[in-house]
Amino acid sequence: MKLYIPGPIEVSQKTFNAFCKPMIGHRSGDFKKLYGGIQPRLQELFQTKQPVFLSTSSAWGVMEGSVRNLVGSGKVLNCMCGAFSDKWLDVSKKCGKQAEALQVEWGQPIRGEQLREKLNAGGFEAVTVIHNETSTGVMSPLQEICEVMREFPEVMLIVDTVSSFSVVPIPMDEWGIDVLLTGSQKALAMPPGLALFSASPKAMARAEKVSGRGYYFDFLEFKKNQAEDMTPSTPSISHIYALESKLEDIFTEGVANRHARHAELNGMVADWVRNNGFEFFAPEGFRSKSLTCVANNRQIDVAALLKNLKDRHGILIDGGYGKLKGLTFRISNMGDESRESIGTVLAALDDSLPR
Ligand SMILES: *Cc1c(COP(=O)(O)O)cnc(C)c1O
Repeated sequence: MKLYIPGPIEVSQKTFNAFCKPMIGHRSGDFKKLYGGIQPRLQELFQTKQPVFLSTSSAWGVMEGSVRNLVGSGKVLNCMCGAFSDKWLDVSKKCGKQAEALQVEWGQPIRGEQLREKLNAGGFEAVTVIHNETSTGVMSPLQEICEVMREFPEVMLIVDTVSSFSVVPIPMDEWGIDVLLTGSQKALAMPPGLALFSASPKAMARAEKVSGRGYYFDFLEFKKNQAEDMTPSTPSISHIYALESKLEDIFTEGVANRHARHAELNGMVADWVRNNGFEFFAPEGFRSKSLTCVANNRQIDVAALLKNLKDRHGILIDGGYGKLKGLTFRISNMGDESRESIGTVLAALDDSLPR
Protein backbone atom coordinates (compact mmCIF):
# COMPACT_ATOMS: atom_id res chain seq x y z
CA MET A 1 0.00 0.00 0.00
CA LYS A 2 1.40 3.42 -0.92
CA LEU A 3 0.46 6.40 1.23
CA TYR A 4 -0.61 9.63 -0.45
CA ILE A 5 -2.48 10.79 2.65
CA PRO A 6 -1.13 14.03 4.16
CA GLY A 7 0.63 12.26 6.96
CA PRO A 8 2.08 9.96 7.92
CA ILE A 9 3.53 9.77 4.46
CA GLU A 10 5.60 7.18 2.64
CA VAL A 11 9.04 6.51 4.18
CA SER A 12 11.90 5.55 1.85
CA GLN A 13 13.92 2.36 2.26
CA LYS A 14 17.04 4.48 2.81
CA THR A 15 15.39 6.28 5.72
CA PHE A 16 14.19 2.98 7.18
CA ASN A 17 17.68 1.50 6.90
CA ALA A 18 19.06 4.45 8.86
CA PHE A 19 16.26 4.03 11.41
CA CYS A 20 17.39 0.45 12.00
CA LYS A 21 21.02 1.20 12.87
CA PRO A 22 22.29 -0.45 16.08
CA MET A 23 21.60 1.39 19.32
CA ILE A 24 24.14 3.61 21.07
CA GLY A 25 24.12 5.23 24.50
CA HIS A 26 22.46 8.62 24.57
CA ARG A 27 25.25 10.08 26.72
CA SER A 28 28.02 8.54 24.61
CA GLY A 29 30.54 10.25 22.38
CA ASP A 30 28.90 8.57 19.39
CA PHE A 31 25.59 10.21 20.20
CA LYS A 32 27.18 13.63 20.65
CA LYS A 33 28.88 13.20 17.30
CA LEU A 34 25.56 12.26 15.71
CA TYR A 35 23.56 15.17 17.15
CA GLY A 36 26.41 17.69 16.91
CA GLY A 37 27.06 16.56 13.34
CA ILE A 38 23.56 17.30 12.08
CA GLN A 39 23.18 20.59 13.96
CA PRO A 40 24.65 22.87 11.21
CA ARG A 41 22.34 21.39 8.56
CA LEU A 42 19.37 21.67 10.89
CA GLN A 43 20.18 25.34 11.48
CA GLU A 44 20.52 25.91 7.76
CA LEU A 45 17.13 24.32 7.12
CA PHE A 46 15.52 26.34 9.92
CA GLN A 47 17.35 29.42 8.59
CA THR A 48 18.40 30.29 12.12
CA LYS A 49 21.56 30.89 14.12
CA GLN A 50 19.85 29.44 17.19
CA PRO A 51 20.21 25.79 18.19
CA VAL A 52 17.70 23.31 16.84
CA PHE A 53 16.21 20.99 19.45
CA LEU A 54 14.93 17.45 19.03
CA SER A 55 11.96 16.28 21.06
CA THR A 56 10.93 12.66 21.24
CA SER A 57 7.24 13.35 20.88
CA SER A 58 4.88 14.09 18.09
CA ALA A 59 4.48 17.73 17.10
CA TRP A 60 1.76 18.23 19.70
CA GLY A 61 4.31 17.81 22.46
CA VAL A 62 6.14 20.93 21.32
CA MET A 63 2.90 22.71 20.42
CA GLU A 64 1.77 22.25 24.02
CA GLY A 65 5.28 22.92 25.31
CA SER A 66 5.51 26.25 23.46
CA VAL A 67 2.40 27.48 25.22
CA ARG A 68 3.66 26.28 28.59
CA ASN A 69 7.04 27.93 28.08
CA LEU A 70 5.96 31.27 26.66
CA VAL A 71 2.61 32.08 28.24
CA GLY A 72 2.44 33.10 31.89
CA SER A 73 -0.49 34.93 33.44
CA GLY A 74 -1.32 36.80 30.22
CA LYS A 75 -3.30 35.60 27.23
CA VAL A 76 -2.46 33.47 24.23
CA LEU A 77 -4.14 34.13 20.89
CA ASN A 78 -4.77 30.95 18.91
CA CYS A 79 -5.26 31.64 15.18
CA MET A 80 -7.76 29.06 13.97
CA CYS A 81 -8.65 28.04 10.43
CA GLY A 82 -8.94 24.24 10.51
CA ALA A 83 -8.75 21.10 12.63
CA PHE A 84 -5.16 21.42 13.90
CA SER A 85 -5.18 25.15 14.54
CA ASP A 86 -8.63 24.93 16.20
CA LYS A 87 -7.34 22.26 18.55
CA TRP A 88 -4.49 24.50 19.72
CA LEU A 89 -7.09 26.61 21.56
CA ASP A 90 -8.27 23.57 23.53
CA VAL A 91 -4.70 22.55 24.25
CA SER A 92 -3.89 26.06 25.53
CA LYS A 93 -6.90 25.93 27.82
CA LYS A 94 -5.96 22.46 29.05
CA CYS A 95 -2.57 23.91 29.99
CA GLY A 96 -4.49 26.34 32.23
CA LYS A 97 -3.82 29.37 30.02
CA GLN A 98 -6.17 32.22 29.18
CA ALA A 99 -6.72 31.46 25.52
CA GLU A 100 -8.56 33.51 22.94
CA ALA A 101 -9.54 32.55 19.41
CA LEU A 102 -8.99 34.29 16.13
CA GLN A 103 -11.35 32.05 14.19
CA VAL A 104 -11.80 32.17 10.45
CA GLU A 105 -13.93 29.85 8.38
CA TRP A 106 -12.35 26.52 7.44
CA GLY A 107 -10.85 26.94 3.99
CA GLN A 108 -9.77 30.55 4.59
CA PRO A 109 -6.30 31.79 5.61
CA ILE A 110 -5.32 33.90 8.62
CA ARG A 111 -4.63 37.46 7.46
CA GLY A 112 -2.32 40.04 9.01
CA GLU A 113 -5.07 42.64 9.37
CA GLN A 114 -7.25 40.27 11.44
CA LEU A 115 -4.29 39.54 13.68
CA ARG A 116 -3.52 43.23 14.20
CA GLU A 117 -7.11 43.91 15.19
CA LYS A 118 -7.03 41.19 17.87
CA LEU A 119 -3.61 42.12 19.23
CA ASN A 120 -4.57 45.79 19.49
CA ALA A 121 -6.84 44.78 22.39
CA GLY A 122 -3.64 44.11 24.39
CA GLY A 123 -2.78 41.60 27.10
CA PHE A 124 -1.38 38.90 24.82
CA GLU A 125 1.87 37.11 25.53
CA ALA A 126 1.91 34.78 22.53
CA VAL A 127 0.22 33.94 19.25
CA THR A 128 -0.04 30.48 17.73
CA VAL A 129 -0.22 30.07 13.96
CA ILE A 130 -0.31 27.01 11.78
CA HIS A 131 1.48 27.93 8.59
CA ASN A 132 0.00 25.15 6.50
CA GLU A 133 -3.36 23.94 7.84
CA THR A 134 -3.17 20.34 6.68
CA SER A 135 -6.89 19.66 7.22
CA THR A 136 -8.01 22.31 4.72
CA GLY A 137 -4.99 22.64 2.41
CA VAL A 138 -4.67 26.33 3.28
CA MET A 139 -1.31 28.05 3.58
CA SER A 140 -1.62 31.29 5.54
CA PRO A 141 0.59 34.22 4.48
CA LEU A 142 3.31 33.83 7.08
CA GLN A 143 5.45 36.76 5.98
CA GLU A 144 2.45 39.09 6.22
CA ILE A 145 1.71 37.70 9.70
CA CYS A 146 5.34 38.21 10.75
CA GLU A 147 5.24 41.81 9.57
CA VAL A 148 2.23 42.52 11.79
CA MET A 149 3.95 40.79 14.72
CA ARG A 150 6.79 43.34 14.48
CA GLU A 151 4.29 45.94 15.75
CA PHE A 152 3.91 43.84 18.93
CA PRO A 153 7.47 42.95 19.94
CA GLU A 154 6.45 41.75 23.41
CA VAL A 155 4.15 39.08 21.90
CA MET A 156 5.81 35.77 20.97
CA LEU A 157 5.04 34.17 17.63
CA ILE A 158 4.78 30.37 17.69
CA VAL A 159 4.60 28.79 14.24
CA ASP A 160 3.72 25.20 13.37
CA THR A 161 5.26 24.17 10.05
CA VAL A 162 4.51 20.45 10.32
CA SER A 163 3.33 20.17 6.71
CA SER A 164 5.28 23.04 5.13
CA PHE A 165 8.79 22.65 6.56
CA SER A 166 11.36 22.21 3.76
CA VAL A 167 8.52 22.63 1.23
CA VAL A 168 8.77 26.43 0.98
CA PRO A 169 11.39 28.81 2.43
CA ILE A 170 10.63 29.84 6.04
CA PRO A 171 13.45 32.15 7.18
CA MET A 172 12.96 31.95 10.94
CA ASP A 173 15.46 34.62 12.04
CA GLU A 174 14.78 37.04 9.21
CA TRP A 175 11.03 36.96 9.75
CA GLY A 176 11.31 37.16 13.54
CA ILE A 177 9.63 33.85 14.37
CA ASP A 178 10.01 33.03 18.09
CA VAL A 179 9.29 29.32 17.97
CA LEU A 180 9.41 27.32 14.74
CA LEU A 181 8.38 23.71 15.07
CA THR A 182 7.81 20.71 12.85
CA GLY A 183 7.20 16.98 13.10
CA SER A 184 8.85 13.99 11.49
CA GLN A 185 6.07 12.18 9.65
CA LYS A 186 4.81 14.79 7.23
CA ALA A 187 6.96 17.11 5.13
CA LEU A 188 10.13 15.36 6.32
CA ALA A 189 8.95 11.87 5.34
CA MET A 190 10.19 10.05 8.43
CA PRO A 191 8.33 7.71 10.76
CA PRO A 192 6.19 9.54 13.36
CA GLY A 193 7.57 10.23 16.82
CA LEU A 194 10.06 13.10 16.56
CA ALA A 195 9.50 16.84 16.72
CA LEU A 196 12.06 19.50 15.82
CA PHE A 197 12.03 23.08 17.03
CA SER A 198 14.05 26.21 17.53
CA ALA A 199 13.42 29.22 19.76
CA SER A 200 14.56 32.84 19.48
CA PRO A 201 16.67 34.45 22.24
CA LYS A 202 13.56 36.48 23.10
CA ALA A 203 11.54 33.29 23.55
CA MET A 204 14.26 31.79 25.75
CA ALA A 205 14.32 34.94 27.90
CA ARG A 206 10.53 34.71 28.25
CA ALA A 207 10.69 31.04 29.23
CA GLU A 208 13.07 31.91 32.07
CA LYS A 209 10.36 34.08 33.58
CA VAL A 210 7.46 31.67 33.14
CA SER A 211 6.74 29.14 35.86
CA GLY A 212 4.97 25.83 35.35
CA ARG A 213 6.99 24.90 32.28
CA GLY A 214 7.15 21.33 33.52
CA TYR A 215 10.16 19.15 32.71
CA TYR A 216 9.72 17.13 29.52
CA PHE A 217 9.16 20.15 27.26
CA ASP A 218 11.10 22.73 29.25
CA PHE A 219 12.94 24.88 26.69
CA LEU A 220 15.69 25.66 29.21
CA GLU A 221 16.38 21.94 29.68
CA PHE A 222 16.64 21.52 25.92
CA LYS A 223 19.03 24.45 25.66
CA LYS A 224 21.24 23.29 28.52
CA ASN A 225 21.54 19.78 27.07
CA GLN A 226 21.92 20.90 23.46
CA ALA A 227 25.01 22.89 24.48
CA GLU A 228 26.62 19.48 25.05
CA ASP A 229 25.04 17.86 21.98
CA MET A 230 22.52 15.99 24.08
CA THR A 231 18.80 15.93 24.74
CA PRO A 232 17.21 16.23 28.22
CA SER A 233 15.96 12.64 28.33
CA THR A 234 16.69 9.53 26.27
CA PRO A 235 15.62 10.42 22.74
CA SER A 236 14.46 8.15 19.97
CA ILE A 237 17.97 7.61 18.67
CA SER A 238 16.57 5.72 15.68
CA HIS A 239 14.74 8.86 14.59
CA ILE A 240 17.93 10.87 14.82
CA TYR A 241 19.71 8.39 12.55
CA ALA A 242 16.77 8.67 10.16
CA LEU A 243 17.01 12.46 10.35
CA GLU A 244 20.72 12.35 9.57
CA SER A 245 19.92 10.29 6.48
CA LYS A 246 17.06 12.62 5.50
CA LEU A 247 19.29 15.68 5.80
CA GLU A 248 21.76 13.95 3.52
CA ASP A 249 18.93 13.51 0.97
CA ILE A 250 17.79 17.11 1.31
CA PHE A 251 21.23 18.65 0.92
CA THR A 252 22.16 16.31 -1.92
CA GLU A 253 19.06 17.43 -3.79
CA GLY A 254 19.61 21.04 -2.70
CA VAL A 255 17.11 22.97 -0.59
CA ALA A 256 16.06 25.26 -3.45
CA ASN A 257 15.61 22.27 -5.76
CA ARG A 258 13.48 20.60 -3.10
CA HIS A 259 11.24 23.66 -2.93
CA ALA A 260 10.99 23.72 -6.74
CA ARG A 261 10.14 20.01 -6.86
CA HIS A 262 7.30 20.45 -4.38
CA ALA A 263 5.94 23.39 -6.38
CA GLU A 264 6.09 21.40 -9.60
CA LEU A 265 4.41 18.30 -8.16
CA ASN A 266 1.74 20.39 -6.48
CA GLY A 267 1.14 22.01 -9.86
CA MET A 268 0.65 18.59 -11.46
CA VAL A 269 -2.09 17.79 -8.95
CA ALA A 270 -3.64 21.24 -9.46
CA ASP A 271 -3.80 20.63 -13.23
CA TRP A 272 -5.54 17.33 -12.60
CA VAL A 273 -8.08 19.09 -10.36
CA ARG A 274 -8.89 21.68 -13.04
CA ASN A 275 -8.93 19.19 -15.90
CA ASN A 276 -11.42 17.02 -14.07
CA GLY A 277 -13.92 19.71 -13.23
CA PHE A 278 -13.10 19.88 -9.55
CA GLU A 279 -12.48 22.98 -7.48
CA PHE A 280 -10.01 23.75 -4.69
CA PHE A 281 -11.12 24.06 -1.09
CA ALA A 282 -8.57 26.86 -0.52
CA PRO A 283 -8.69 30.18 -2.37
CA GLU A 284 -6.14 31.07 -5.04
CA GLY A 285 -2.94 32.45 -3.54
CA PHE A 286 -3.41 30.61 -0.24
CA ARG A 287 -3.08 27.02 -1.36
CA SER A 288 -0.71 24.59 0.25
CA LYS A 289 2.31 23.48 -1.80
CA SER A 290 2.59 20.14 -0.02
CA LEU A 291 -0.93 18.80 -0.40
CA THR A 292 -4.11 19.52 -2.31
CA CYS A 293 -7.51 19.68 -0.65
CA VAL A 294 -9.96 19.07 -3.49
CA ALA A 295 -13.50 20.42 -3.08
CA ASN A 296 -16.03 17.77 -4.04
CA ASN A 297 -18.12 20.14 -6.15
CA ARG A 298 -18.91 17.24 -8.51
CA GLN A 299 -20.48 15.47 -5.56
CA ILE A 300 -18.84 12.15 -6.32
CA ASP A 301 -18.95 9.28 -3.86
CA VAL A 302 -15.63 9.93 -2.12
CA ALA A 303 -15.79 6.70 -0.13
CA ALA A 304 -16.17 4.74 -3.40
CA LEU A 305 -13.20 6.61 -4.90
CA LEU A 306 -11.04 5.76 -1.89
CA LYS A 307 -12.10 2.13 -2.06
CA ASN A 308 -11.30 1.90 -5.79
CA LEU A 309 -7.89 3.45 -5.27
CA LYS A 310 -7.11 1.11 -2.43
CA ASP A 311 -8.44 -2.14 -3.89
CA ARG A 312 -7.34 -1.68 -7.50
CA HIS A 313 -4.20 0.40 -7.16
CA GLY A 314 -2.90 -0.11 -3.63
CA ILE A 315 -3.04 3.64 -3.06
CA LEU A 316 -4.35 5.56 -0.06
CA ILE A 317 -5.55 9.15 -0.29
CA ASP A 318 -7.57 10.98 2.36
CA GLY A 319 -11.34 11.34 2.21
CA GLY A 320 -11.62 14.64 4.08
CA TYR A 321 -10.73 15.63 7.65
CA GLY A 322 -13.41 15.65 10.35
CA LYS A 323 -16.39 17.70 9.26
CA LEU A 324 -14.95 17.88 5.71
CA LYS A 325 -15.30 14.13 5.23
CA GLY A 326 -16.94 13.46 1.86
CA LEU A 327 -16.97 17.18 1.05
CA THR A 328 -13.28 17.14 0.16
CA PHE A 329 -10.47 14.73 -0.51
CA ARG A 330 -6.77 15.31 -0.03
CA ILE A 331 -3.69 14.22 -1.95
CA SER A 332 -0.20 14.71 -0.53
CA ASN A 333 2.87 15.62 -2.57
CA MET A 334 5.15 15.87 0.46
CA GLY A 335 8.47 14.27 1.15
CA ASP A 336 10.11 12.14 -1.51
CA GLU A 337 7.38 12.26 -4.16
CA SER A 338 8.56 12.57 -7.74
CA ARG A 339 7.02 13.40 -11.12
CA GLU A 340 6.69 9.68 -11.63
CA SER A 341 5.03 8.89 -8.30
CA ILE A 342 2.59 11.80 -8.60
CA GLY A 343 1.89 10.64 -12.17
CA THR A 344 1.03 7.25 -10.70
CA VAL A 345 -1.52 8.59 -8.23
CA LEU A 346 -3.10 10.86 -10.85
CA ALA A 347 -3.44 7.99 -13.33
CA ALA A 348 -4.97 5.86 -10.58
CA LEU A 349 -7.40 8.69 -9.79
CA ASP A 350 -8.40 8.87 -13.47
CA ASP A 351 -9.03 5.16 -13.44
CA SER A 352 -10.92 5.20 -10.13
CA LEU A 353 -13.23 8.18 -10.48
CA PRO A 354 -16.84 7.01 -10.34
CA ARG A 355 -18.35 7.74 -13.77
C1 LIG B 1 -0.36 16.41 11.71
C2 LIG B 1 -0.26 17.81 12.18
C3 LIG B 1 -0.08 18.12 13.53
C4 LIG B 1 -0.09 17.09 14.61
O1 LIG B 1 0.99 16.29 14.53
P1 LIG B 1 1.16 15.07 15.57
O2 LIG B 1 2.33 14.41 14.97
O3 LIG B 1 -0.08 14.25 15.52
O4 LIG B 1 1.41 15.66 16.89
C5 LIG B 1 0.06 19.45 13.87
N1 LIG B 1 0.01 20.41 12.97
C6 LIG B 1 -0.17 20.16 11.66
C7 LIG B 1 -0.20 21.29 10.70
C8 LIG B 1 -0.31 18.86 11.23
O5 LIG B 1 -0.50 18.61 9.93
